[in-house]
Amino acid sequence: MSFRLSSAVKTLQPSATIAAAAKAKALKASGVKVYDFTLGEPDFNTPAHIRAAATAAMDAGHTHYTASGGIPELKQAICQAYERDYGLKFQPSQIVVSNGAKHAIHNVIASLCGPGDEVIIPTPYWVSYSALVELTGAKAVLIETTPDSGYVLSPEQFEKAITPNTRLLMLNSPSNPTGAVYPVAALEALARVAVKHQIPVLSDEIYEKLIYGNSEFRSFASFGEDVQKLTIIVSGVSKAYAMTGWRIGWSIAPVELTKVIDNLQSQQTSNPCSISQYAAIAGLTGPQDSVTAMHAEFIKRREYVLDRFRKIPNVKFVEPGGAFYIFFDVSHYFGKTLQGGKVVHNATDFCTALLETAHVALVTGDAFGAPGFVRLSFATNIETLGQGIDRIAGFLNPK
Ligand code: PMP
Ligand code: GLU
Repeated sequence: MSFRLSSAVKTLQPSATIAAAAKAKALKASGVKVYDFTLGEPDFNTPAHIRAAATAAMDAGHTHYTASGGIPELKQAICQAYERDYGLKFQPSQIVVSNGAKHAIHNVIASLCGPGDEVIIPTPYWVSYSALVELTGAKAVLIETTPDSGYVLSPEQFEKAITPNTRLLMLNSPSNPTGAVYPVAALEALARVAVKHQIPVLSDEIYEKLIYGNSEFRSFASFGEDVQKLTIIVSGVSKAYAMTGWRIGWSIAPVELTKVIDNLQSQQTSNPCSISQYAAIAGLTGPQDSVTAMHAEFIKRREYVLDRFRKIPNVKFVEPGGAFYIFFDVSHYFGKTLQGGKVVHNATDFCTALLETAHVALVTGDAFGAPGFVRLSFATNIETLGQGIDRIAGFLNPK
């Protein structure tokens, strides 16, 4: 029999990042050596003291349900980390700990949006934003930002996109996929528009610790009380602590909204993994030298990748100020004959042909609302990056 699907899932596509990684894995499983730069996840193992805290938690019997929104000790640890790192003061009552930042984002959108509502999302955006908005029946209002502005949404663009149906602005700095980090003044200008029109802002700060060069991370909640009243921070331990598989993220919002998010989560998933919560405490409160060491390695990889890409003709990109992606424009090569006699006409075909011909896996910009672009994640070692980039260069400019 064929099932009659809900209208919510009828048009739902799989996450393009996860689908691209699965495709690369399938090719690998068939015995081919694949240069996989799809997923944005650190290749490092979770630091030893965090793993040890998980073992200790299991041994101590922390293997039961916890409060749906997370244990008080973790909420406290999150508050301490924001105060230590950014001088921001939050209360545990503002926090819900979720099954990863992605879940936290879904909680926020599901709590604020429904049919007829609009959510403003600057493009390029992370794949799941529009899908999660559309799942609620709300409309994703996509506003284009360009390489010329460093992928920064201007206050004028924001204000122009606001209608009586606007429920939320979604920001992501540092950005996946562009690596763009909003200058402080640009963020503050958006904050002033948000306050003027009383528009809530979901600030996805998951890459907060991965900052390069002269870029500066600033939390959206740092622009005063009137801004904080409208701000929902989403972050987590996945990227900075190499804890993607542990599934711990959080939202920090005004108390009233936090209660709603907690209610939703209590019906939906109950608590995030009890053991992972104890591990996250060790990450946030323990020594931060592994975060510094991983960051130092990402700095080297970024330098290496940028240096290599500067030498590939007709590929354009904006240097990423944060995260671990290079997002580059390959549209110059559309319609030209590439390696293996391939001719491609868009970024999705480009990724397919590159994987088939050169065995390099990237994610298409089409998935991020940026046709003509592709994303390479440099969260892998320099040797593999080097060999993969050789292959990309050879694919584009065959001898
Ligand atoms: N936001 C952005 C911008 C991301 O790139 C990701 C990918 N991990 C997430 C949220 C979700 O993070 P998590 O793995 O904690 O769910
Ligand atoms: N956020 C990472 C990425 O964009 C992990 C995969 C996902 O959750 O989409 O590649």
